[in-house]
Amino acid sequence: MGELRGFLKYQQKVSGYRDVEERLKDYREVIMRLPRHELTEQAARCMDCGTPFCHSFGCTLANLIPEWNDAVYRGLWDEAYDRLELTSNFPEITGRICPAPCESSCTLSINDAPVSIKEIELAIIEHAFSQDWVVPQIPRQESGKKVAVVGSGPAGLAASQQLRRMGHQVTVYEKDSAPGGILRFGIPEFKLEKAVIDRRLNIFQQEGIEFETNVVVGEDLSARYLKRTHDAVVLTLGCRVPRPVPVPGSQSDGVYFALDYLTQATKSLYGELSPQEIVSAKDKTVLVLGGGDTGADCVGTANRQGAKKVYQFEIMPKPNKWDKTWNPEWPYYPKIFRSSSSHHEGCERRWQIKTKKLYGRGVSIEKGIFCEIQWTKDPSDRPQQQEIPGTEFTLDIDMVLIAAGFVQVEPSKLLKDFNLQLNERGTISIDENFHTNTEGVFAAGDAVSGASLVVKAMNQGRSLADKVNEYLG
Ligand SMILES: Cc1cc2nc3c(=O)[nH]c(=O)nc-3n(C[C@H](O)[C@H](O)[C@H](O)COP(=O)(O)OP(=O)(O)OC[C@H]3O[C@@H](n4cnc5c(N)ncnc54)[C@H](O)[C@@H]3O)c2cc1C
Repeated sequence: MGELRGFLKYQQKVSGYRDVEERLKDYREVIMRLPRHELTEQAARCMDCGTPFCHSFGCTLANLIPEWNDAVYRGLWDEAYDRLELTSNFPEITGRICPAPCESSCTLSINDAPVSIKEIELAIIEHAFSQDWVVPQIPRQESGKKVAVVGSGPAGLAASQQLRRMGHQVTVYEKDSAPGGILRFGIPEFKLEKAVIDRRLNIFQQEGIEFETNVVVGEDLSARYLKRTHDAVVLTLGCRVPRPVPVPGSQSDGVYFALDYLTQATKSLYGELSPQEIVSAKDKTVLVLGGGDTGADCVGTANRQGAKKVYQFEIMPKPNKWDKTWNPEWPYYPKIFRSSSSHHEGCERRWQIKTKKLYGRGVSIEKGIFCEIQWTKDPSDRPQQQEIPGTEFTLDIDMVLIAAGFVQVEPSKLLKDFNLQLNERGTISIDENFHTNTEGVFAAGDAVSGASLVVKAMNQGRSLADKVNEYLG
């Protein structure tokens, strides 16, 4: 695999991001790419470790990482693509936005910087597209069976492509105006340009997958009708109920949930909403509540809209700083302090901050009262927050974006009409075959696992497809 002792000869190299000043003026992708010859060197760092944790532990999809690294090192890009597409339906998306747990578990990262797996993945698939190697895979035989997939996020897309390739007729129903789920309307353009999704959807359509958008299943189409007209129904609805920050004033004008804000921002970029119809951060002091990735996406979007100042407050402690290249928690994804590209664009971040009250003179938000907290444990070892006396402070703010995570699937007529059982986490209960409690109805993705990652949703969609295929006989 790679070059014998290549990991001793070559240092890790990553391409990084476009210049902050330049990228803040547009919504184009912030990531850059390494030139081909440098990728060959990076692939050469793969060290034939024997037990490739990247493939077997880090990557949910079990991507054949050492094999594509070796092919790239030897200049066999077509072979690298053949191996990549065996396990992934849209590596051009994970190659851009996956947090790359594979790199955390790379054996090199026990005491050195890992192989730049994500960069190599993206280079392989972009090269494959440029060479027209990415072509529709039309099934050799039609099964005569019909499957409805409700929801077109990564779980629904992966499931639909796998099922179609097995010969089933697949229709994807989506309530939004375009397919993609959070890929389309949650993740901002500067992380994932929507043309990347459309290029892939074009292949899906050529394979014979049908998309019906602007259809709310349960409202525009009844659950009964769907069940009657299809041999199996797949629910990949996502997990979209946001966790509130229940403080006085959180219902005020000027307080919004992150996903609503991000959706509007992308829709306005594509002319689906006019600038007057969206909530904009222009000339505003913005506070993002929640220190995770969704919050970071809000930071990047607010800065591009021309926010005056952006704060991001998190209630949990600041993770430990780690400035070494290796992984202190190998092979796990380490809990260390991270900054996204958006944080480098301008943002004041604070941790262990509790929001006590949001208020304004009229109905609109103008100020917030906050304090610092410390975390302790109660007698039964449960975490407990304690306000630190004398740390209360007031901040002038014009807009608050709540990015505190997601708690459950959206209650809907669809869930009710299918009589679906939810578990204690508020997601859809399934058995080991992805089957819900209703005959012929399957579920996967965030709707089952709770808010997670694209790679996990894709993997669930693929595994579900195998089980639906078995069910259909
Ligand atoms: C802002 C944000 C940024 C993120 N960034 C990243 C990232 O960088 N990397 C990463 O790996 N993960 C990221 N994630 C997580 C990732 O996007 C999700 O885990 C993933 O999209 C879940 O896929 P899914 O297919 O289960 O659901 P979703 O992507 O939520 O798709 C569900 C779809 O079902 C549709 N739907 C629901 N009900 C109905 C109905 N009744 N009728 C018709 N359609 C319906 C919805 O409209 C939606 O399109 C991010 C999440 C958010 C919120």
